[in-house]
Amino acid sequence: MAVKTFEAQSCHVNGKVWDAGARPRRALVDPADGHVLTSVPDSAAEDVDAAVDAARAAFDNGPWPRMSGRERSRVLLRISQLIQEHADELAELESYNVGKPITLARVVDVSTAVEQYEYWAALAQTLDGATRGLPIPAFAYTVREPVGVVGAITPFNFPLILSSSKIGPALAAGNTIVHKPSDETPLSALFMARLFTEAGVPDGVVNVVTGTGPVVGEAMLRHPGIDKIAFTGSSKVGRHVGAVAGQHLKPVTLELGGNGAHLVFKDADLDAAIGAVIKAFVFNTGQFCMAGPRLLVERPLYETVVAILAQAVPGVPVGDPRDPGTVVGPMAGERHLAKVEEYLALARAEGKIVAGGARRPGAGYFVEPTVVTDLPATSRVLHEEVFGPVLTVQPFDDEDEAVRIANSTPYGLSAGLQTSDLARAHRVASRLHAGIVWVNDWSMLDPAMPFGGVKGSGHGRENGPEVLEGYTRTKSVLIAMPPAQG
Ligand code: NAD
Repeated sequence: MAVKTFEAQSCHVNGKVWDAGARPRRALVDPADGHVLTSVPDSAAEDVDAAVDAARAAFDNGPWPRMSGRERSRVLLRISQLIQEHADELAELESYNVGKPITLARVVDVSTAVEQYEYWAALAQTLDGATRGLPIPAFAYTVREPVGVVGAITPFNFPLILSSSKIGPALAAGNTIVHKPSDETPLSALFMARLFTEAGVPDGVVNVVTGTGPVVGEAMLRHPGIDKIAFTGSSKVGRHVGAVAGQHLKPVTLELGGNGAHLVFKDADLDAAIGAVIKAFVFNTGQFCMAGPRLLVERPLYETVVAILAQAVPGVPVGDPRDPGTVVGPMAGERHLAKVEEYLALARAEGKIVAGGARRPGAGYFVEPTVVTDLPATSRVLHEEVFGPVLTVQPFDDEDEAVRIANSTPYGLSAGLQTSDLARAHRVASRLHAGIVWVNDWSMLDPAMPFGGVKGSGHGRENGPEVLEGYTRTKSVLIAMPPAQG
């Protein structure tokens, strides 16, 4: 059977295919077998200049920021419909480019993007201000204005959803955008650029420039024509992004790494808890910022839970991402595989492997879903973000100890607990360092619910009405009201 390939890709600037000419090209490979899928330009700073010029002109003189919220809403709804119409192509792109199981790409990535744009369409109609009664003779009100040109930088793991998380609300608020997708997984962003134009987004409003962080990303951070940076990626790069944005006094939102703790109390529904525990660490092959790779189990249940996992985890279907039954695909790239293999070696040296523990032999970047126990409390496997299908298990004796261990990493993105005690659910949820806490589930999300990090997981919120805070600024207008004459 012929291997799947896609035509060579180009950037999108000012509503058109942008080819600056002699840029080096990066080959993208299928992580399932390593064959070359297509190539994209490794753009230069001059390409960022062209994209910013287009976005700047569209913001300063174009119709988009001046359209009513209702008009923008209609365009956003059309984007949602177009994603639905092109669901199969988008799911296929995500699956080949990222190694995502095709069912996940359809049911999660594409469906979420559809729902997000429906939500952004509603949000575009809610940009209200407030009147304020003042103790001075003035009629005073506030208005929310778009921030201007947004530089959106996104990571490799959920390309479609995470670009939608930034571009959608930025559009809803009337901004224009320069988007740099991950250099490893840019295909759906380039496809979406065409859908934006088809949906009626004016030229120059969304521009997509492919390339590396050190070249294209850096040029965006420092570009005087970009008014705000919206970044999702690792905490390491995020710290740098925040520092450079600070030097340039650019507002920045940072959605960074995570290392979520999943607490199972002895009063939990065990069957349901095990299902959630497995989902929390294998979802998207563990390449999920909000994953639950640290399992903490109340001591009376500890041995039982470890034994169940040792038996159940080897049965998780790993393999061909195009098989609808596959749950765990390959790691998205060689870089990610190498990182996970390094942590697996550490886990084998420092702890006890009760399931998996190695790379799968053969082509493709596959690792076995892995469960590790008995790691020393200082192990890097516990404290750092592995970003692969690796679960560590630790016992705890009481609620205080569970919360202390859960909060002991530099991260604070997600956390979860399994319990049948409602009072405990509220109490523990309030004590966990996390932007989102799940009770008796893991990974339920909705565009209407905000998420984001605390501590090393960043700041700012995506989704929910809160997302607009990052894409608008408030202006106060005070109209003098002289006292009435006569
Ligand atoms: P990464 O930090 O390596 O790269 C993210 C993006 O930043 C890429 O587009 C990259 O090219 C760009 N970049 C790299 N160096 C840059 C620089 N000097 N200046 C500007 N841009 C630069 O992250 P990754 O490996 O692509 O993604 C995985 C990470 O993202 C994990 O840590 C994961 O937890 C995190 N993540 C967080 C969320 C969230 O919502 N909090 C969501 C998804 C992924």
